[in-house]
Amino acid sequence: MEAFVVIGNGAAGRSAAEELVRGGAGRVVLIGREHPVPISRPGLMYRAMGAMRITDLELGVPAGVEAVFGEVVAWSPVQRWVELASGRRLAFDHVIWAVGAVARRFPGPVTVPVMHLQSLGDAEALAGAEVRRWAVVGGGLVGAELAEWGRGRGAETHWVVREERLWERWLRREESVALEKRVARHGVRLHLGVELDALAPVLPLPGGEVAVDAVGVAIGVAPAGWPGEWAGAWPGVHAVGDAASWDGAMRAGRNVALRLTGRPELPEPVVREERLRCFDRAVTVLERAQPVAEWGWLDAAQARSLRVGTDAAGRWVRVTAMGWKLRANRVAEVLQQGLSSDQIPVHPLFNEPEGTRLPVDAWSQLQPLPAP
Ligand SMILES: Cc1cc2nc3c(=O)[nH]c(=O)nc-3n(C[C@H](O)[C@H](O)[C@H](O)COP(=O)(O)OP(=O)(O)OC[C@H]3O[C@@H](n4cnc5c(N)ncnc54)[C@H](O)[C@@H]3O)c2cc1C
Repeated sequence: MEAFVVIGNGAAGRSAAEELVRGGAGRVVLIGREHPVPISRPGLMYRAMGAMRITDLELGVPAGVEAVFGEVVAWSPVQRWVELASGRRLAFDHVIWAVGAVARRFPGPVTVPVMHLQSLGDAEALAGAEVRRWAVVGGGLVGAELAEWGRGRGAETHWVVREERLWERWLRREESVALEKRVARHGVRLHLGVELDALAPVLPLPGGEVAVDAVGVAIGVAPAGWPGEWAGAWPGVHAVGDAASWDGAMRAGRNVALRLTGRPELPEPVVREERLRCFDRAVTVLERAQPVAEWGWLDAAQARSLRVGTDAAGRWVRVTAMGWKLRANRVAEVLQQGLSSDQIPVHPLFNEPEGTRLPVDAWSQLQPLPAP
């Protein structure tokens, strides 16, 4: 019986292991260093906020998979074994590296406590931490979560973003401005177009120096330990490629397993999907192709918007929604079927409005927020 060892029990590794069993592979071992069973990484924020327990994040070990808790610290691609920090060795016929990413460290001098939100350990540290004055560096999804965490702790919160406006990759200028105002109304001081070269107890921000107890750093990720030059260097050694999204990681993991068990790989999805969240405003983008025309609506006061992009034949090819809980599957069907506006009953495309992860008494989705 062949032995398949999967290193890393994230979305990619878990899916690879599950698919190997489904494909009738021999013994399948899934090794993870973070937690004995796979966890939901997008759910980490809820753990950091203290709104969930670790067990709520557990995804379970797929049937037929043998889970091993530990960190792989050595391996031999020639003699075909991996070794855990405990000294235990496991032999393999095939090894799949699915080690994902780690939080990128701040590149300049750091003389103040910093926190990340990438691993379960980070979420645990945040869940137990208290800060009174907090700054966050990095304007992406995780930066938004760390800013929300600071406000959830009641801290004076500064959010430092290098870009001139929030989420320019997904939003139009006037949508960004509406979102920025909403964030300010949640009590966050947003500093746009600012790049810090050092992190210290006193930060030089526009408008004056700001004292902070700690800084949340969310400036992207770095590969966790699979050097690219290993790819294809030895028979029986495989790797899952980088994936920026949960679904992408699952697909990449499954594809390695499908390849190894002689089955066709999954095609790229026709509709690309991105979902982000900034306090109580979700931004959802579903895209089949670049539109040639786009029409939309913005309620700047409430930071809600909806845009529909069409192709030359008037068919919907992109939907961008802020502050609306789209029924993404229904919208994706519309894009896949190539429907135009007069063929779509619009009301089944939406769910109820958004909530936030702040404590319940701060929920604001249906109430006007106080002025900043
Ligand atoms: C806070 C946060 C929120 C996110 N929210 C979303 C979202 O809403 N939607 C979305 O699509 N994506 C989201 N993402 C991104 C998504 O979680 C990642 O793209 C996805 O988790 C990548 O999966 P992966 O399996 O490739 O890697 P990882 O999730 O990084 O898993 C790799 C695993 O391998 C383990 N490992 C590494 N080295 C070793 C070793 N030597 N021995 C044993 N184990 C090892 C790691 O500890 C880790 O558990 C979010 C990410 C974060 C951090």
